[in-house]
Amino acid sequence: MTTTKASLRIESPAKINLFLHVTGKRPDGYHNLISLMCRVSLCDHLYMAIGGKGIRITCPHPTVPEDHRNLVYQAVALFVDSVNDHVRKQLPGLAIHIDKWIPVGAGLGGGSSNAASVLLALNRYFDNPIPTDRLMVLAASIGADVPFFIFQKPAIATGIGEHLEAFENLPAYHVVLVFPGFNVSTAAVFKKLNLRLTNREKKLKQIHFREKNLNLLDALHNDLETVTVADHPSIAEAKSELCRIGALGALMTGSGPTVFGLFANEDTAKKAVKILTDKSGWQIFSARLVV
Ligand code: ATP
Repeated sequence: MTTTKASLRIESPAKINLFLHVTGKRPDGYHNLISLMCRVSLCDHLYMAIGGKGIRITCPHPTVPEDHRNLVYQAVALFVDSVNDHVRKQLPGLAIHIDKWIPVGAGLGGGSSNAASVLLALNRYFDNPIPTDRLMVLAASIGADVPFFIFQKPAIATGIGEHLEAFENLPAYHVVLVFPGFNVSTAAVFKKLNLRLTNREKKLKQIHFREKNLNLLDALHNDLETVTVADHPSIAEAKSELCRIGALGALMTGSGPTVFGLFANEDTAKKAVKILTDKSGWQIFSARLVV
């Protein structure tokens, strides 16, 4: 983050799910899961200027709202409500411009990341008036993935995503992201997920997710993938294409539709980007795991 007077430039990273197992459905309709999440170096750029009146969001992306529905707006409103009068007086209003580089509605957590990045930046700017544990609670009230971006480390997420444990020793793989150019609704994917819970819980007990020597490439798995692939076969195509051109493993992230491939070195990743960019109508991004 760089600072000039009351103007801040904030980098807001995407995430991928290296594994995602759905463990059950809760009475409130949400699903419990166990997921290994890691930030990647593909970032949105946010520009925040403190001053004026009210919360003003601008974002030229056609499907990102600029009003209270924007997760950044909600993050600012929560921050203002949670600080004392002394801080609130220094924040009569602010303007935030969002430059989207992370595909929207793609399973990459862009909106959640934007909200978390703004919470972190405001808290830092005003000398941490909100302790981290309280910041996590505010984040969870915006969305299940937001606490992960406050946590800022690779993590195993449980519950609906709000319980986080640091996951050490992830290799800093190169990542190639394939966004097939359409959106999926997270809610619709979970609705279609056919849970056979008893079997699933039994199966999951045998997997030692927290093991230090976990073989990450063997552990790549996403329960939501079969649901999304059934409607969008191009996701399976992207996976096999990534593996064919050198990925050590490939998987759909979140509820999709973005697929990532993990690469051992920059050279093979660069070659893969070139082949995929020349060949397809897909959007291809090159990044690193942030470990
Ligand atoms: P989720 O699984 O939570 O839907 P996602 O990574 O698939 O996340 P996002 O890019 O976060 O998708 O966008 C999901 C929806 O959130 C979009 O349809 C968009 O209208 C809305 N949204 C609200 N605020 C933002 C924001 N700051 N950036 C992107 N989308 C936002």
